[in-house]
Amino acid sequence: MEKIKMQTPLVEMDGDEMTRILWQMIKDELLLPFIELNTEYYDLGLEHRNETNDQVTVDSANATKKYGVAVKCATITPNAARMTEYNLKEMWKSPNGTIRAMLDGTVFRAPIVVRGIEPNVKTWKKPITIARHAYGDVYKATEMKIPAAGKCELVYTAEDGTETRELIHNFAGAGVIQGQHNLCASIESFARSCFNYALDTKQDLWFATKDTISKKYDHTFKDIFQEIFDAEYQDKFKTAGITYFYTLIDDAVARVMKSEGGYIWACKNYDGDVMSDMISSAFGSLAMMTSVLVSPDGYYEYEAAHGTVQRHYYKHLKGEETSTNSVATIFAWTGALRKRGELDGNAELMKFADDLEAACVKTIEDGNMTKDLALITTIEHPTVLSSEGFIKAIRETLGREYQ
Ligand code: NAP
Ligand code: MG
Repeated sequence: MEKIKMQTPLVEMDGDEMTRILWQMIKDELLLPFIELNTEYYDLGLEHRNETNDQVTVDSANATKKYGVAVKCATITPNAARMTEYNLKEMWKSPNGTIRAMLDGTVFRAPIVVRGIEPNVKTWKKPITIARHAYGDVYKATEMKIPAAGKCELVYTAEDGTETRELIHNFAGAGVIQGQHNLCASIESFARSCFNYALDTKQDLWFATKDTISKKYDHTFKDIFQEIFDAEYQDKFKTAGITYFYTLIDDAVARVMKSEGGYIWACKNYDGDVMSDMISSAFGSLAMMTSVLVSPDGYYEYEAAHGTVQRHYYKHLKGEETSTNSVATIFAWTGALRKRGELDGNAELMKFADDLEAACVKTIEDGNMTKDLALITTIEHPTVLSSEGFIKAIRETLGREYQ
C-alpha cells in the first residue's frame, strides 16, 4: 500500500515518562507504516525544556499558531521533587498552562465509550463532554505568603492614575493570599466556543459557577454567557432542538450524578480540571478520555487528558513489564490527523484517523486490553496485554484494513 501523504505539517509536542515511551511506539507501529508523517517536532520533555529555559514550549505554541493543528504528549509539571530529580534550573511552569495562555480557548474532554466498559454511575448512558475554560483564574494567579500581621488590599490603578481599593483582609497573624484574574474577551470566546460546539454536536449545554458567593467574579461569567446566548444563539438552539441551562456548580454536580449524560458541561478552568478527572474515571479510565484545546482563532491542540503515568514509568525503568493504556494518546493523534485532513481537504488522512480509532475500539471490544480496563470490564476472560502488546494488537486489527 502506498503511504498517505500530508500537505501541511502537524506540530508535534513530545513529552515525558511513560507517555513518551508510548508516543514512540504509537508512531512506529500505528502511524509511520501507513502515513508519510509530516510533523514539525518540538521536544517538550522536561530535560529539553530545562536546557532551553522553556523556550521550546513557547516555540511550539507559536508553531501551533502558524500551522493550526498540534498534537501533544503528556508532560511533567515540575514540583519540588522534580527539581531534584531533573536538576532543574528553575521550577518551570506547566507547559499546558503556557500553551493555553498563548492560544486562549476552551478544552473539550469527552470519554471514549466502548462496549464492555460500563460507567460507574449507572444512570449514565451517553458520554458527558466537559468544556474547560483554558485561561486564567488560579492557573494565572499571583500568590503571597503573609508572614505576620498586616493589611492586604486589592488595588486597581486606572490608566489616568486613579486608584480603586478593596480590603482583602486585615491579618492578625500569618496567612496566605492569592490574586486571580480573567478577561471579558476570554470569557466571551469561551462562551462562543461552547455554544458553537453544542450546535456542532447537537448536545445541550450546561454551565455552572459559584455566582451566589462570588458576586462579581463568577457572576461575570454567568452574565456574559447569558448575554451572548440571548443575543446570538437562542434561535439557533431552538432550531437545533437543544437547550442552554445555567445553574450553581454544586447543583450541577448533583444533577450530573442523576443524569443520563449526552450533554456538554461547561466549567471554569479549575472546575474543568477537577471534574474532567472525575468524569473520565467514572466512565472507566483516565486513559479513555480525549482532550482538545479549541482556540477562538481556530487553532487546535490535541492531547490525552491524563498525565505522564509516572508510576508505570519507574516500573519500565526497572525493566518490569507495564500495561499502560495508550488509547487517549492514540486519539490525540487521530484527532489531530483528522483535523489536519479536514483543513487540507485530505480525505484519506481523515479516513485513516477514523479507521485507527475504530481499530482501538474493536481491539478492546474483542477482549484485548490493558490492565486498567481488564480490572473493570464486563467482558468475560479479557486478555491483559502489555503496553507494547496492546499497541501491536491494535496494529493487527488495523492491518486487516490496510494491507
Ligand atoms: P497520571 O499520569 O494521570 O497517572 C495517575 C494514575 O492514573 C496512574 O498512576 C495510573 O494508575 C492511572 N493512569 C493514568 N493514565 C493511565 C494510562 N494511560 N494507563 C493506565 N493507567 C493510567 O497522573 P500523576 O501520576 O498524578 O502525574 C504524573 C505526571 O504527569 C506529573 O508530573 C504531572 O505533572 C503530569 N501531568 C501532566 C498532564 C498533562 O500533560 N496533560 C496532566 C496531568 C498530570 P495506577 O498507578 O493505579 O496504575
Ligand atoms: Mg488535572
